[in-house]
This record gives sequence, structure tokens and C-alpha cells, in this order.
Amino acid sequence: MSTVIETEEHRALRTAVAALGRRHGRAHDREALWQEAGELGYLGVNLPEEYGGGGGGMAELSIVLEELGAAGCPLLMMVVSPAICGTVIARFGTEGQKARWLPGLADGSRTMAFGITEPDAGSNSHRITTTARRDGDDWVLTGRKVFISGVDIADATLVVGRTEDARTGKLKPCLFVVPRDAPGFGRRRIDMELDAHEKQFELTLDDVRLPADALVGEEDAGLLQLFAGLNPERIMTAAFAVGMGRYALGRAVAYAGERQVWKAPIGSHQAIAHPLAQSHIELELARLMMQKAAHLYDAGDDTGAGEAANMAKYAAAEACVGAVDRSVHTLGGNGLTREFGLASLITASRVARIAPVSREMILNYVSHQTLGLPKSY
Ligand SMILES: Cc1cc2nc3c(=O)[nH]c(=O)nc-3n(C[C@H](O)[C@H](O)[C@H](O)COP(=O)(O)OP(=O)(O)OC[C@H]3O[C@@H](n4cnc5c(N)ncnc54)[C@H](O)[C@@H]3O)c2cc1C
Repeated sequence: MSTVIETEEHRALRTAVAALGRRHGRAHDREALWQEAGELGYLGVNLPEEYGGGGGGMAELSIVLEELGAAGCPLLMMVVSPAICGTVIARFGTEGQKARWLPGLADGSRTMAFGITEPDAGSNSHRITTTARRDGDDWVLTGRKVFISGVDIADATLVVGRTEDARTGKLKPCLFVVPRDAPGFGRRRIDMELDAHEKQFELTLDDVRLPADALVGEEDAGLLQLFAGLNPERIMTAAFAVGMGRYALGRAVAYAGERQVWKAPIGSHQAIAHPLAQSHIELELARLMMQKAAHLYDAGDDTGAGEAANMAKYAAAEACVGAVDRSVHTLGGNGLTREFGLASLITASRVARIAPVSREMILNYVSHQTLGLPKSY
């Protein structure tokens, strides 16, 4: 890759993380990898140096996740803990919140989950009803969340709730840090058909009482703060998808180069080679868009980054789903064996198409925001 797109430091980071990924590989122990990646400074590469981070941005953090994914050992909680929660706290937290959370999020000794999705709101986050009300200096949170990843392994969850605007009576989004064992904070594991280390949970917040400083950022700047976290989430989901797609494609290319059924390797048949070449192109293009989104975000252009991050997430998810599908097919029967480990990626690759924002909602966004077409809903 040219230095115009990635610096020497970026390429060195890619090489180093790829080596770490190769050592752990597909059959990795998640805890051990998380700990080592944290100690090496990779998990907090985007966080401020004064709080133990690497002082970089999404360009660097997305490289880490992509390379781990390409080695078969993506760390899903990177999408959430340093990317969303770390970013929001670094940008909008008080000194106390930064000092309490950032060093641990940076070295991986602490993890934070993120909860916005609700059963009745789904893709329409404007409809979320988890509500925070004041009681003296405290906040009291009530509501439900669904599909929240890693709540069991996270020290706390950054929960998107709403408070009532005193002037208009309208509910506005606000972010609260809810410790894992807070009284009234219940979780039930959802039985997902996903072969992943990180589990999803349904959460109940039943009058969860939190101190005043559980609120991250201003009560009045909720939306701005939320998007400061959601753009990194999309960039990181793109990194997750590009990495997974590269992993699957790598396995398929190796197999196609060796497997011989007639007198030549199956990779010499264009019916096998061309779809793999197509996936390679699609993954490269998606990565390019991811780099653009990361670059805009790191340069402080939240609006430009929003559009690019959505497009990158869309492109990466589609490229990943295609690459996994073609890779499984390339392996024939072996594509479905546990030994080769590709079939479970069929389900895993769909996650990037659905979360954190679905393919259709990105198409809606581009139709309305970019193309200026009218809304149907
Ligand atoms: C593995 C996994 C991990 C997750 N982790 C987290 C997490 O850590 N934190 C968190 O907050 N959430 C998490 N989520 C939730 C995820 O963000 C949601 O599943 C996603 O936003 C979609 O919401 P939904 O499932 O309610 O689907 P729905 O909103 O019910 O949508 C269902 C389908 O209808 C389509 N649709 C809906 N509205 C429209 C429209 N107007 N036009 C066209 N099509 C439409 C959607 O595209 C989708 O295909 C996770 C989900 C998964 C699968």
C-alpha cells in the first residue's frame, strides 16, 4: 500500500499487529489475546497519551482490529470499549471520568460495553425510552436494552438514555456509565447462533440509582456526543468486516492453489479464481473508504466522517459477506467442516450487515442525506 494512504508508522503497526494475530490465530484464547494486545498498547492506540493511550486516532485503531481479524482472531469489544466509550469519555468526560476510565480502557485492564438498542425502538433510536430522572443529586434509570455485547465481561456499560428537556418537555439522549453490578441492573444472555467469544444480552434497568457523575458529558449536547461515538463504531465495524473477509479469502486462496481434482489446482479454473479476485477488489475498496472515514474523523470533521463511515461500513459488510460466501464455496465440502472453520463465518459475517446500523438504514441515509431524496418513513 502506498505511503500516501498509510504512513511508515501505520505500516509498522500493521506488521506488528499481524504478527501478534498470527501467534494467536483462529483458535485463540480471547482473554490472553486481549491482555497482550492491551499491554502492547494496541487497544488504546486511539486514546490520549496523557491517560495511557497511544495518542493516535481511528486510523490506527482500525488497523489493529483489521489485522487481528485478518489473522482469524478479531476482538469484537474493540468496536465498543476503546472506540465508542473511550472516544466519548476522552472528548466529553470530566477530568475525574477520564482519570477513572481511560488508563484502564487503554491498557485493556478495564472494558466498557455500549447499550443503545432497545426492543421496541430497533433501528429507530429516536424512539428509545430508557429514561433518566433526577433524584436529588442522583440519577435514576429505567428501561430495557437488547443485543448488548459483552456486558458480562465489561466493568460497566455506557447506556444511552434520555432526560426530559425542562423547557420543551422533549426527551433528549444522554449517556450514563452503569457499573456491571449496580443494583437493579439485570442481564439475560440471548441465545445467538453465533460462534463468538463475546455474548449478547438483554438488559433491564429497574430504578438503577447512579451518582451525579455517572452522566458523561453535557445534558444538552447529547446527540453531538452520541455521534462522536457512533462514527468510530461504524469505522471499527468496517475494520472488523474487512479483517474477517481477508481471513476467509486467505484460507480460500491457499486451498484453491493446492486442491487438485482433475489435473490442475481448482484455482486455475476461472469459475473459482474470478469470484476470489472480485472479493479481493471489493475488500480493498472497502478498506479505502474506511481509511477515508478514519482520516476525516481524526481530522475533526464529524459531518464528513459520518457519511464516509456509513459508506465504509456498508461496503465492508457487503464485501465481507461476499468473501465469506465465496470462500466457503471454494472449499467444497471442507467449507462446512469444523476443521477448516469457515462455515461459522457465514453467520458471523452477517453481523456487520445488521449492526450497528443495518444495510437498509445506510441506504436510507445516503438516499436522504447525500442524494436529497424524500423520506418514506
Ligand atoms: C451480534 C450483535 C451484536 C450487537 N451488539 C450491540 C451492542 O453492543 N450494543 C447495542 O446497542 N446494540 C447491539 N446490537 C444491536 C444492533 O445494533 C441492532 O440489531 C441493529 O441496530 C438493528 O436493529 P434491530 O435488530 O432492532 O432490527 P430492526 O430495526 O427491527 O430492523 C429489522 C429489519 O428491517 C429493516 N428496516 C427497519 N426499518 C427500515 C426502514 N425504515 N427502511 C428499510 N428497512 C428498514 C432493517 O434494515 C432490518 O433489516 C448488536 C446486534 C448483533 C446482531
